Amino acid sequence: MVFNRHGNDPVIRKVDRTKDDVLETASKFGVNLVRFLYTDFCSMVRGKSSSLPRLKDRIDTGIGLVKGQLAMNSLDKPQSDTGLGAVGEVRMVPDLSTFTVLPYVSNTGLMLCDLIELDQQPWKLCPRSLLKQQIEEADKMGFSIQAAFEPEFMMGTKDFDGRFVHLDSSVCFGTDGHNRANKFVSKLVDYLHRQRLHVEQYYPELGHGQHEVSISHAPALTACDQYIIFRETLRGLAMEQDMLVTCAPKPFEDQPGNGCHIHLSVWDQYGERNLLWSDKGLSEFGKHFVAGIVAHLPGLAAMLAPSVNSYRRLQPKSWASAFTCWGYENREAAVRIPSLYWGHEMASSNIEVKCVDSTMNPYLALASLIACGLDGVRKKVVPPEPVAGDPADLTDDECAKHGVQRLPHSLHKALVELEADRFLMSTLGEELSNAYIIVKSSEVQAFALDNEFELAHHRMRY
Ligand code: GLU
Ligand code: MG
Repeated sequence: MVFNRHGNDPVIRKVDRTKDDVLETASKFGVNLVRFLYTDFCSMVRGKSSSLPRLKDRIDTGIGLVKGQLAMNSLDKPQSDTGLGAVGEVRMVPDLSTFTVLPYVSNTGLMLCDLIELDQQPWKLCPRSLLKQQIEEADKMGFSIQAAFEPEFMMGTKDFDGRFVHLDSSVCFGTDGHNRANKFVSKLVDYLHRQRLHVEQYYPELGHGQHEVSISHAPALTACDQYIIFRETLRGLAMEQDMLVTCAPKPFEDQPGNGCHIHLSVWDQYGERNLLWSDKGLSEFGKHFVAGIVAHLPGLAAMLAPSVNSYRRLQPKSWASAFTCWGYENREAAVRIPSLYWGHEMASSNIEVKCVDSTMNPYLALASLIACGLDGVRKKVVPPEPVAGDPADLTDDECAKHGVQRLPHSLHKALVELEADRFLMSTLGEELSNAYIIVKSSEVQAFALDNEFELAHHRMRY
């Protein structure tokens, strides 16, 4: 999956675009509106558009955003306890390298933005800026990080009452599913390619109407940007074709969940040597990196599986991973070490974090994972023994030996774990962690009483 310059695949790099280049491309493609977008704590992608004639100035000045927007939960209810409200502004400042012309709507482009204070410093609550900080930390230690996202989603058509009818009832990887979804998926791949996203693999998954597209690895920030562009494209295309699509972790109680596994590899500064690889399996360095992640999994859950709906998915024996452990080729372990590609052993060495779903903010998720991995490397943490079977079948003694614990059962528990994890709390910083916990706790409350409401809300929003 994760190839680099030693593999056959093209290496995906950040495209360096100049302002003139963006303006020229925008007019060449007849763009008259460019969306300035950010992703909030609940992974809602939001923003405002600049008209083409104003774009030249707005690229420099950004577009204003009231700080209270980051206090919104996915029900669009602002949480005033965060101290964020109607007063105070930041600017959405675009990263020109993310500019794309949108294939699923007319005359429109997008750019992904950092949230910058009026004194031109990154806002402490900006998720994208937090990831940049962690990438810088890695760089200072002499490492570069590649990442890839594997979103699963469910597709459907609408019945007379607008309800979701699963697109297919194909078996897992079944050709019926390939055929049934072909029209939609081939257009999706085309739309993604037009926006410079490379699709690695596609297949129908286990659930009815469930499909998976994996996007090729890229440097950490680009990988997150591309994942957001993927989700925007998926939803945009579904709307264009009057179909329904959902990436919610568990949109239907009687169907498997939708994960969004994250693959990571750590390279030397030049991207020449994959530090996770050794000819005996995961390198010592890799073991420290994995150990750092595994040690923090209970608190990490609040960033990787951050919705009430996430915990319907994170159940034992569903390949979603419900336990704090790691293992070679183990799809029930929260951290899986996948098998390597013949002839590309070094290049394809990577780790897969499975307890992740598409309700995450990818920038916060990746920033937290990188911070924990680097902490493991810094402190040379030794991981527990890898788990070879299904962790749900281990005895209590075996669990103790492998350091296996059940991941939090609910978002509430995950937030309690996060609050108790001093390392993660300081990685996020006081302002961000405080606001994050308040916003997420408001969702715990909002969905506490009505299961149907919770399922329908997540199905629709994600
Ligand atoms: N659908 C499973 C999940 O919720 C993953 C199945 C697989 O691709 O291993 O993560
Ligand atoms: Mg899958």
